[in-house]
Amino acid sequence: MRYISTRGHSPDISTRGQAPARDFADVLLAGLAEDGGLFMPETWPHFSPADWRALRGLPYADVAARVMQPFVGGAIPFEVLQGICRDAYAGFGHPAVAPLVQLETGLFTQELFHGPTLAFKDMAMQVLGRLFDHVLAQRDKRVTIVGATSGDTGSAAIEACAGRDRVDIMILHPHGRTSEVQRRQMTTVLAPNVGNIAVQGTFDDCQDLVKALFADAGFRDEVRLSAVNSINWARIAAQIPYYVASALALGAPDREVAFSVPTGNFGNVLAAWVARRMGLPVARLVVGSNRNDILARFLAANDMSMQPVEPSLSPSMDIQVSSNFERLLFELLDRDADLTRQTMLDFRRTGRMTVAAPVWHHARTLFHGFRLDDPGTEAEIRRLHAACGYLADPHSAVGIAAARALPAGGGVPTVAMATAHPAKFPDAMEIATGHRPALPPRMADLFGREERFSVLPNDLGAIEAAVRALVGRNRV
Ligand SMILES: *Cc1c(COP(=O)(O)O)cnc(C)c1O
Repeated sequence: MRYISTRGHSPDISTRGQAPARDFADVLLAGLAEDGGLFMPETWPHFSPADWRALRGLPYADVAARVMQPFVGGAIPFEVLQGICRDAYAGFGHPAVAPLVQLETGLFTQELFHGPTLAFKDMAMQVLGRLFDHVLAQRDKRVTIVGATSGDTGSAAIEACAGRDRVDIMILHPHGRTSEVQRRQMTTVLAPNVGNIAVQGTFDDCQDLVKALFADAGFRDEVRLSAVNSINWARIAAQIPYYVASALALGAPDREVAFSVPTGNFGNVLAAWVARRMGLPVARLVVGSNRNDILARFLAANDMSMQPVEPSLSPSMDIQVSSNFERLLFELLDRDADLTRQTMLDFRRTGRMTVAAPVWHHARTLFHGFRLDDPGTEAEIRRLHAACGYLADPHSAVGIAAARALPAGGGVPTVAMATAHPAKFPDAMEIATGHRPALPPRMADLFGREERFSVLPNDLGAIEAAVRALVGRNRV
């Protein structure tokens, strides 16, 4: 499988001067294409009904390996990929990995939060860390991953990289501005290749520091900086299998299924779209937003206009721009890279995007938008708890409410994606239901574990020195 950029320029990342060979491994390590576009597979793999049926009854990790295999192509042998998937999901807190729970007739939720950090990012990140190790070993290289976090993505990245042979990871968080659970999920990981910096500043300061690290070309090359952000194609690829697994459990390919996805950067729901593109019979895709509803506004009125981010009960969906939307746009524009690039540059410049009417109508046949504010989210959490005793975190509650508001009809079941464990948001849960969910047993001692992090000023030199020290420790 070869990969192209949504912005069309043909970067030559591995061979310099030869025909560009951008395979899955190149795309994994590069993240973003050199022209600023996102990588997309050159063609979409297709599974026949018999291919889907052959996956029925397999353990989750094996479904994952088989669904990802066409995207990985020749870059990694199937047996290695399968070993990586088995290892990645072995540590999950539920034997089904991503279990399906019935909430009412025709409505299910798929729990994607049984990984080490209790959020759905683990589903892809646990695979990604191991893929990095494998590809870097093949190339005899190391990388240093740096990232800024306001809370959740940092811990998933740390858990994915901790103890890996070829990766060092340094995560910056704003000192005193994350919740204690969020901080401890990062700072109690004591593997020697993990570093945590509490920056004396805001999340924006952390992000600016990370950008400045990448902008310092000398430093970037010296420590071989890399990122594992949500535009990495490998993360999308690793998110397709759970849609396949739940669809199969509900009768696919002989029966249709619908999905409802609480959405931020559009990565999760894009993976559902890819599953459909591969031939999975998906009748409907519902995109759930909180008050930061840029996607819902686009689908309702062809108005993709940036607005300031407002904090909500579902912080992982508090976004101004959904970075993976560019991939859908590229498809909607019939893979016209020039038009995609121009549309994205105009959007950045003007803060607004409207697409041609036929393109918008096409988007509306693919996705249904839904918006839920904080009082609505709280009401949905309370309603679910009263109706069936189920505790859905605020993100998951948005997806479940969206599924109930926009059913596919015709007896097609809807699966709403549950993206975080309720124990990650104990205050919201307590206000809505009167119950404070406990952390799962394997994490119950989080508050007793040793923490390790440095508090540093908002100063590039200090951060670079700390990254050098981490890297030096592991490369001697
Ligand atoms: C990241 C995240 C989301 C949003 O997923 P996207 O792929 O960015 O759309 C939703 N819920 C939780 C809990 C998350 O961590």
